Amino acid sequence: MTDLHERYAASVMNTFGPPKLVLARGEGAHVWDTDGNEYVDLLGGIAVNALGHAHPAIVDAVTSQLGTLGHISNFFTSAPQVELAEKLLALLGVEAGEGKVFFTNSGTEANEAAFKLTRRTGRTHVVVAEGSFHGRTMGALALTSKEAYRTPFEPLPGDVTFVPYGDADALAAAVSDRTAAILLEPIQGEAGVVVPPDDYLAGARSVADEHGALLWLDEVQSGIGRTGDWFAHLRTGVRPDVVTVAKGLGGGFPIGACIGLGDAGTLLEPGNHGTTFGGNPVACAAALAVIRTIEEDDLLEHVTVLGHKLRDGLAADPRVAEVRGEGLFVGLDLTADLSAEVAAAALRAGFIVNNATPRRIRLAPPLVLTEDDVNAFLAAWPAILDEVF
Ligand SMILES: *Cc1c(COP(=O)(O)O)cnc(C)c1O
Repeated sequence: MTDLHERYAASVMNTFGPPKLVLARGEGAHVWDTDGNEYVDLLGGIAVNALGHAHPAIVDAVTSQLGTLGHISNFFTSAPQVELAEKLLALLGVEAGEGKVFFTNSGTEANEAAFKLTRRTGRTHVVVAEGSFHGRTMGALALTSKEAYRTPFEPLPGDVTFVPYGDADALAAAVSDRTAAILLEPIQGEAGVVVPPDDYLAGARSVADEHGALLWLDEVQSGIGRTGDWFAHLRTGVRPDVVTVAKGLGGGFPIGACIGLGDAGTLLEPGNHGTTFGGNPVACAAALAVIRTIEEDDLLEHVTVLGHKLRDGLAADPRVAEVRGEGLFVGLDLTADLSAEVAAAALRAGFIVNNATPRRIRLAPPLVLTEDDVNAFLAAWPAILDEVF
């Protein structure tokens, strides 16, 4: 299918570099390219395909909702929208009325909404972490740490302080009475699945409380079952003021949400923000199908058990320096800067993985990944490394 590669190069903006494959179809955690080669998808569309590819629950929910009522604008609402808002609040462990949801179409838009929400405190200063990724639109980009992403687009919205991730003292030193919000990923995704010390979020909560700042957790990548919990922060017992989600929420159908808990849920007032597509019935029906399937198929338990097996298996090779993560959110450091070569060798062997940094491999497979898929990958893993090391 060189033809499609050439046509892509001629017609699609070159923001992503050349595509690695032209994919034709998928089922479960497997995808096939246009030449009929099969791959185990251990990246899941970057933590998006929670139920894998072509899951009947999503297909049915989307087709039946689209055949009934597809789009209505936010002058109106629909049952799926209200049900999803209620469900997200329940999954966050808050009572009805103790939080409110703004729906978007993507992660960066969820963060834009949250960023605007923080401005409604009357303060502008935001403290974020080095290694963070919060999106590519101008606001979210201002909160994203990688300079190569930011510099070409400056000036960006200002008053942002970056602190080393996981360092509670540095965080405490950066926050003051003029800080609107502390923004953190509970586990950093784009940085290669970086897990902070156990008490880091609790520390952030108390620093935020001390200064009257909001604690905003970006669960765009870590949320919706990825870590074996509905949200990665839940196991810490910390209650944030704002949570943003997207990626896994729609299982491949674009949807995101900015969730304000307690008083943060009422900071955005009529006229402060809006969206045409956000919260449309089809996207909400897809998300409800994802959540229902995770519940009915006991996928949180599955993710926890399979995640242990996957991480333990990967860590057994001496060319792996460290394996991090929770559930099926996995980062591993190689003993050398060879992650691009390892990802390419994995692809040749029929496994899609991501080289997050020169030394780090990231895995975020569908939550429906099977034990057979894991066994196949672990069996192939030493030979993949042999090709490169
Ligand atoms: C991917 C990601 C985003 C941006 O989401 P998009 O849907 O790509 O706009 C924001 N925050 C985190 C933590 C992410 O992983």
